[in-house]
Amino acid sequence: MRVTVHNDFHGTEARLNVKVEARWNETDDRRAWISARQAQRIRAKLCGVRDCTCGDALGMSGPGNPGLEEQPNGAIVLTGLKRS
Ligand SMILES: [Zn+2]
Repeated sequence: MRVTVHNDFHGTEARLNVKVEARWNETDDRRAWISARQAQRIRAKLCGVRDCTCGDALGMSGPGNPGLEEQPNGAIVLTGLKRS
């Protein structure tokens, strides 16, 4: 599914095409895995500023973004995905 994530601080956004892993469970939580390499690219697009603390681990900031869970290997799981 297509997901748009954004960074309100820099006024940037990135469109992602992600593969949803749990399409339908009891909480209707759609999740998608983002590899460490992909996460790096997305972060660079949303906030390319070294040492900037505006966003989260994926560089997202502001309301309307999905949730995320950082993985030990640098990968990221997006949670609560909504269609955009
Ligand atoms: Zn920034």
